[in-house]
Amino acid sequence: MIPRDGAAARDRFVLELRGPKAVLDPHRAYAAVWEEECDERGALAPTAVVFLTNHECPFRCVMCDLWVNTLDGTVPHGAIARQIRDALATLPPARQIKLYNAGSFFDPQAIPVDDYEEIATAVAGFDRVIVESHPAFLRGVYGDACRRFRDLIGGRLEVAVGLETVHQEALAALNKRMTLDDFAAAAQFLARHAIALRVFVLLDPPFVPHHEAADTALSGVRTARSVGATACTVIPVRGGNGAIDALPVEQRPRLGLRELEWVLQEALAGGPEGPPLRNDGPYSSLLREIFTNFRVLAPELHALGVIHGAFPDDARRQEVDDQIDLALLQRGGWIRHPRRVRLQVRLRLAIAASIAVRELVEGGHL
Ligand code: SF4
Repeated sequence: MIPRDGAAARDRFVLELRGPKAVLDPHRAYAAVWEEECDERGALAPTAVVFLTNHECPFRCVMCDLWVNTLDGTVPHGAIARQIRDALATLPPARQIKLYNAGSFFDPQAIPVDDYEEIATAVAGFDRVIVESHPAFLRGVYGDACRRFRDLIGGRLEVAVGLETVHQEALAALNKRMTLDDFAAAAQFLARHAIALRVFVLLDPPFVPHHEAADTALSGVRTARSVGATACTVIPVRGGNGAIDALPVEQRPRLGLRELEWVLQEALAGGPEGPPLRNDGPYSSLLREIFTNFRVLAPELHALGVIHGAFPDDARRQEVDDQIDLALLQRGGWIRHPRRVRLQVRLRLAIAASIAVRELVEGGHL
């Protein structure tokens, strides 16, 4: 059982349950991918994503598995810029670049501040540079470093911040070392300095009571919008980091696909706090587009035996959901659905696949 009180005790709980880290070369990014996502005007923008190899994040969040691909020491001078240059050489051209470092870009242990100029040169020409940061690294001297980096790059700076959940007790139990006020202060700092904000919201974090989980996830998206986020990413919690797997099952509320779809639909449809986030088509068109994107999954679903007679009753439906979840969780991956207002909702492929199958069933195509 994770200690509810005491950050130091929670740190120990997380650390003791960890497995080994990956063996990484400090001069090489540990991954690089190319993808498309909406730009601020809603047009699809080719985007390079470079997963930087660097010093581990100083926090010990219960749900985090990013430490696996990190180092125990700071990288040598010039290594980060070299990682970026080499990674970009392997990718198609892009207009945006994400520099994701499994922590906080403005943590000087992670990304040496003396390297900023060289990094800025490496990303010159990109319209938008997206990095990630904990709110603790968006104030004081770290905030100054953030503004300096903004001034060095040619394009617009966007900072992704993990809100995780608006459930205050759960946020504390997750060991995020951040309050909702800290998040709001970080959002204000970024807005004040003309830096765009992206927000990560967890879909089903532990410690959020099951009956509140869907509402809480939706509130997270709406909170992101209310503080001016131009992109919001909804992320299911992954297992496999040790700490998450050690939590008693009853403390790990897992939303069913109906609730996940509801969060997606409500988030896109807007709500009492603001205008609709989408106004360019009915929900069914969203489903069709999702299915079009992931048509490739159909053979896998057939292999699972879930398409024929899909969802005849709730029990079977749950079984189907579980099967798809399991298969695609192992495979990993995300859906990205572009919206005109640049709300970006990423859910597990499982969700997309399940929605698509139901759409086809209900449409009489299966
Ligand atoms: S702040 Fe982010 S990177 Fe650091 S431990 Fe928490 S979730 Fe992981």
